[in-house]
Amino acid sequence: MNDKISFEQFNSVFKILSKSTDDYLFIFDFIEDHYNITERATEVFLLDNWDFYNAKAVINKCVYPDDRDILNRNLDLIETGLLNELDLEYRWLNKNGNPIWVSCRGQVIFNKDGKVHYLIGIVSEMGRKNKIDNITGLYREIRLRQDILNIDKTSFENGFLLLIGVDNFKDINERYSKETGNETLNELAQCIIKTVSNEAKFYRMSGDEIMILCQGIDSIQDNPAEIMYTKIRKAVDKHISEKCYKLFYTISGGSVYFNLEDEIDLKLIEKAEFALRLAKIYGKNMCVTYDEKEYNEYVRKLKMQEALRKSVKNDFEGFELYYQPIVNMEKACIYGAEALLRWQNEEFGIISPGVFIPLLEESGLIIPVGRWIIGEALSKCMEWQKKCPYFRVNINISFVQIKKSNVISDIDLFIEKYGLSSDNVLFEITESGELDSCHATQNILESFHSRSLNLAIDDFGTGYSNLRYIKEMMFNLIKIDQAFIKGIKTNHYDYVVVKQFTELAHNLNLMVCYEGVETKEDFKCVKELKPDYVQGFYFSKPVPAKEFEEKYLGKEHVF
Ligand code: C2E
Ligand code: CA
Ligand code: CA
Repeated sequence: MNDKISFEQFNSVFKILSKSTDDYLFIFDFIEDHYNITERATEVFLLDNWDFYNAKAVINKCVYPDDRDILNRNLDLIETGLLNELDLEYRWLNKNGNPIWVSCRGQVIFNKDGKVHYLIGIVSEMGRKNKIDNITGLYREIRLRQDILNIDKTSFENGFLLLIGVDNFKDINERYSKETGNETLNELAQCIIKTVSNEAKFYRMSGDEIMILCQGIDSIQDNPAEIMYTKIRKAVDKHISEKCYKLFYTISGGSVYFNLEDEIDLKLIEKAEFALRLAKIYGKNMCVTYDEKEYNEYVRKLKMQEALRKSVKNDFEGFELYYQPIVNMEKACIYGAEALLRWQNEEFGIISPGVFIPLLEESGLIIPVGRWIIGEALSKCMEWQKKCPYFRVNINISFVQIKKSNVISDIDLFIEKYGLSSDNVLFEITESGELDSCHATQNILESFHSRSLNLAIDDFGTGYSNLRYIKEMMFNLIKIDQAFIKGIKTNHYDYVVVKQFTELAHNLNLMVCYEGVETKEDFKCVKELKPDYVQGFYFSKPVPAKEFEEKYLGKEHVF
């Protein structure tokens, strides 16, 4: 450039150019300390003018404080002639004072005396540059966020978000290749575009998910999001069959409706994600509509899990073991107790183990808590055994402890620490498919066996009854589930099941315990069937350790 071109001329060229790009063009005049930038920049950034003197100071105010040093260092290098081009990524502040990453590139122009005169270049918002996803050609999530915030709330239209995810996408990537995974995503995107192109906008989300934003629907009565999902699923199925099932996959959907009278915000995305997660949990290849109640329950669950984590961290604060007496039928005495976990929390109050134990299991917290339970129960057992030598404590063990921790070494440690014999303790394990499908189970059950540790099958008869365990004699005792005991007086089927199982167990030299004996009538009825042990509210509810010790420890002639 030479000095003959005036600023007026510059400006008119720049105005034309700036209309044909999303970027901001700028001219920095070092001699005049003057700055000129595409006018649109003043709508986005913390700039009052697009044409101003005192350039360095003004620009500095618009730059994120942490990035001012690096910018000024670069400008100094330019001014002293040590650098003749600028290529810098740093942050500018937007109108709300939030940082926005920009890339700033420019060339230095010298005047005829060889002095640095201008820096001319462009500033680009990096977020905008990444607008399009390379794999699917769809907009990225950042654009969805803008579009949601820009929804015209005066248009009185309703709409929905529908999030589509490929089921078991990880398997496709692992079994075939990442390229196959990408191809699958692209095919899915094309299927979606073809099927519903004129009804909606599409965005590539993270991983295997594609979001659809649909506005202008009349009624949600017939669930238009689900109808759209079904259309897409059919299109995907057709596509797969046309490709001769070379690769088979299914898709799930999660949708959330919005009403322009409600507040529309970015939480909608989280809600659609939550609905999709439910669709996957419920078995995949289906669509779930967001439900406020379910979401609140889920959030409550997360909060409860957080509170449980805190309790564990604070030395198991709020956890306590209660003890329920177990009656030896032959001797009519209380021979031991089942330790049952209780948890109390300031925010949630008293929560049933049926609720918090699955949360402990899901989060893996059952491992430290389970270790604590074993330690607590065995320490009490040592204390009580001094007064009542035959005393035995029953401890519940979760399948998670068996699968994911070295529960045997915890047991060894505490039995030794408290000088107990293996006969003072019995472990109750609930039969479940989880256990059966785990190949470590057999080894662990054998470890119990080889240490002569007593084992019981808990809740026998419900859920997943595996007679193989009995056949392999891994257990010493069978606890028949309370559901059968409840029905025993009135339901012939329950009566026969309990009677036959008791006889079968006895013929195989296994002991039997009935749980859930609540009333005198229950007790009268079960007595005839000759169980070895009985447990239930008829004798006592689970009680705190102190109460157990005072009321029940070693008690004889209980009936
Ligand atoms: P479970 O092991 O089958 O424990 C027996 C449950 O039945 C206990 O419920 C007990 O309070 C209740 N129960 C006892 N007698 C009667 C009766 O006569 N009638 C009725 N209706 N109920 C009776 P709880 O304490 O609420 O525990 C529920 C479940 O939570 C337990 O079932 C067990 O699966 C789990 N659990 C409790 N404590 C622990 C623990 O320390 N570790 C593990 N892993 N699980 C535990
Ligand atoms: Ca139990
Ligand atoms: Ca049970």
